Parts: sequence; C-alpha cells; structure tokens
Amino acid sequence: MEKISRRKFFGKCLVYNTTVILGGGWFLSCSKDSNGAEFNSDLEYLPIQHDNPAIALWREKCEECGDCIEACAEKQKVFGAYQASASKHVCIHCGTCIKECEEGAITEKYHWRDVLDAIDNPSKIVIASLSPSVRVGIGDYFGLEKGSFMLENMVGACRAAGFDYVLDTNFSADLTIMEEAWELQRRITEKVNIPQFTSCCPAWVKYVEIFYPSLLKYLSTVKSPISMQGSMVKSYFAQKKGIDPRDIIHVAVTPCSAKKYEITREELSIDSLRSADFVITTNELSKLFTSRNIDLTAQTGSFDSFMGAASGAGIIFGNTGGVTRAALRTVYYNITGANPPDNLLELQQIQGLTGLKEAQVSIGATNLNVAVCYEMRNAQKLLEQVMNGSCKYHFIEVMACKGGCVGGAGQPAGSSTIQKRIGALNMADQQAPTRYCHENPEIKAIYKDFLGTTGGTEAKKYLHTTYNNKSHLL
Ligand code: SF4
Ligand code: SF4
Ligand code: SF4
Repeated sequence: MEKISRRKFFGKCLVYNTTVILGGGWFLSCSKDSNGAEFNSDLEYLPIQHDNPAIALWREKCEECGDCIEACAEKQKVFGAYQASASKHVCIHCGTCIKECEEGAITEKYHWRDVLDAIDNPSKIVIASLSPSVRVGIGDYFGLEKGSFMLENMVGACRAAGFDYVLDTNFSADLTIMEEAWELQRRITEKVNIPQFTSCCPAWVKYVEIFYPSLLKYLSTVKSPISMQGSMVKSYFAQKKGIDPRDIIHVAVTPCSAKKYEITREELSIDSLRSADFVITTNELSKLFTSRNIDLTAQTGSFDSFMGAASGAGIIFGNTGGVTRAALRTVYYNITGANPPDNLLELQQIQGLTGLKEAQVSIGATNLNVAVCYEMRNAQKLLEQVMNGSCKYHFIEVMACKGGCVGGAGQPAGSSTIQKRIGALNMADQQAPTRYCHENPEIKAIYKDFLGTTGGTEAKKYLHTTYNNKSHLL
C-alpha cells in the first residue's frame, strides 16, 4: 500500500518568500536563503549529507513520507530551526530519524566491516568496550525475549569474533560519576554555574553548542563514559599491559549513532590519539557476529581486568534518570560520609517514560532540585528557564533518546521493549557487588595509581573536556 506523505496531505507549498506553519508546528521556508542561494522548497525527506559522520541516507529506499522531518522537528527541535536546503542540513546525530523511518532509508553509518578488517590485521590489538544498554538490547536482534540480559554471552561472542580484550564501559561510567559528583559539589559550594547539566549525550551537547552557546558554561566539563574509556584504554590500560597505544584499535560498542560523531571531536583526543577508533552500534555488533557465524546464545565469557569491573551506579547509566541516581549516591556519600538510604538509591520520581521528571532531595543540610528529561523538546523548556532566570534546578540530566540510551538509534527497533530494557538494567544494579562507584575497587585503584584526586590535574587532563560555540552551523 502506498504510504501517505505528510507533505501530500498538507499540500505543496505554493507561497514563496514566506514561512508556512504546518500541523505539528514545524515549518518549511519556501524561498532563497539569507545569502540569496536557492534552496529546495520541496523537501520531502531530511537532506542528510554525505559527510555526516554518523547518519546515512539511502535515497533509493525513501518513500518521501516526511516522517523523519516531522520527528527531527517536533521531538528534537532541529529541523525547522534553520533554513534547510538540499545541500544544507544541520544535525545533532541523535538518530531519531533512523527510528522513525519504517523503510530503512536512514541508518547509522556502518563501521562494523572496518572493525573486522582491524581484527584480521595481526599487527593491531583490538579492544572492545561494551556500553550498558547493548547488553539488554542485543537479544532483540536475535529474537530472544525482550530486555534479555546478555552480558556473558556478548563478551564470549566478542572473544569468539577475535577481539583481543573485552572491557566494560560501565567502568568509565563509574569514573564519570566520580568526577561529576565532585564538580556538582564544587559548583554548589562556590555558587557558580548552577544548574549543572549532564554532558554524556553528544547529541545534547551539540544541540547546546549550536542553539544555546551562551549556556555552555552550565554543561558539566566531564567527558562521556565512552570518551573516558578511550582516554584510559590508550593511557592507563596500555601502560598496565605494556602495549604501544598506537597499536591499539579501540572499538566502542554502543546503542548510539551520535557517538560516531563524538569520536571525531578533536578536543577529546589524548596525545593526538582518538579515544575510540571506531564506534559500532548494537545492531552492527549483531551483524558482525552473524557474518562470522557466531551463535550469541552459545557463547560465554567475562570482562578483562583493570577496566572490567563496575558498580550498579555505572550500570544504570543506560536508563533515563540513571545518571542522576548514580550521581546523587556519590554526592550523598561525599557530603555525609555514609551511603544513602534506599529511597535515594531508587528515586522513583525520576524513573520511567515521562519526558520531563523532577525530584527534590535533601542531603544533610543541602537541598537539591533535580530534573531529568529526554528529547530536545523537553530540554528546550529547561534551557529557556535558564535563559530567563527562572530555573530552580541544581542538576539536570538530558538525553536525546526516549528512555535514555536503552532507546538509542543503534538498538534493535521497537519502543515497546524500552521499559523491559530499563527493568533489566535496574535489576543488574540491584544485584551488583556494590551499587556505589566510590566503592568499586578498580576505581579506587585507578585514582591511587594514575589519576590522583577527583578534579585534580591528571583527572582534568584525562577526564574533562571543553565545548565550542557552533552557532555558525545555522
Ligand atoms: S527517509 Fe524514511 S522517514 Fe524520511 S521521508 Fe524517506 S521513507 Fe520517510
Ligand atoms: S539524526 Fe537527529 S538531528 Fe540529525 S537529522 Fe536525524 S533526527 Fe534530525
Ligand atoms: S541518549 Fe544515549 S543513545 Fe541517545 S543520542 Fe544520547 S548518548 Fe546516544
């Protein structure tokens, strides 16, 4: 059956030199751009460019239904906030359009074959780092029960595929929390740059850089877990194992399209080396296993040491609200010297599939207002509050994807499975040997042996970053 095009439904734009408001609030300008250049007044699909590092358009599959345009405009507030043309496209690489396109005409840019080439190169040490959401998403690809926790199978399958080391990115999620908790306490004590926004979602970071550059000082300077993981792999891990970091090919396996963009950011390099050489998604890892005839369910294995242990706090990073819950556990410990009570561990108010949630938390004499949101349409409300001085929050978590990274564009499709993935990560948190990153023995060891103190000189060098005004992209 022919798919009904939204543009056909609304009718073609016949009015030139004006802005036309369509049903959902997004607009297409039918004119020349501000430089007088012609632009396409008939965009039926997102004009994703060849040099987009994360997203690919397969034009021959496109039915020109316009669903991707609407999702980008309504959920992420990107399309329609600038004058798009056939050759001009602004993108935060969130992958919402991938999830929206039923024809498979938009996908992540594939790098899994490059990873296989690296594995087959005997002069390279190929290291996989596995993000939390991948372990609860990959089962969907192979038709297993939704939300199945496939960690040991996945690690074993990675070894069978030929990765030399398999590490847990949750280790670096623990590191992220150590630094983010330190940073929040410092900002509150010094009364500067409140609220502190999280910065582990590269799509969100790029959104602020493009559309709200005056608010960049509110973003945490802490790198994302994947970037920290790369910094540590090519420094600490390489030292411990006696490997020349230039021989390492570090592969971050993620639920995320935007991470493919993130690893191209030069400010995240360490000693001129990229933190990750490739990012592949859950779907790509599944293709890689399939191409090598590896049966996921028949494999088992465990992470390598040094960077293979994580707390429950790191595990819930994949869930909406997870970063906030994890951070508050360590903020509580840092302020009171004791671990928090159960109600703070769970913090039900900021869990679940509501786009914008909030909670108030008392830690000793400190009262904190926190907010958690996903999709830029919700984040925009909070950004506007900061702009007009009415924001009451101290800490704000923003993720681009519905439900957080468990709902990332690189995961097998199906929004009905997101809640099950969230439940599976929560269960793993509850069953973890410790639920606090500050109790993770490997985290204690890395600060003692390598990083020094939280927020110290070495921690700043390896674990923090800077941001740039990107409004020129508009
Ligand atoms: S890329 Fe997909 S969602 Fe976008 S217009 Fe084409 S078919 Fe529709
Ligand atoms: S990846 Fe996100 S920002 Fe880029 S075109 Fe798709 S929906 Fe829009
Ligand atoms: S929410 Fe997670 S998966 Fe989605 S774009 Fe952000 S980092 Fe990537």
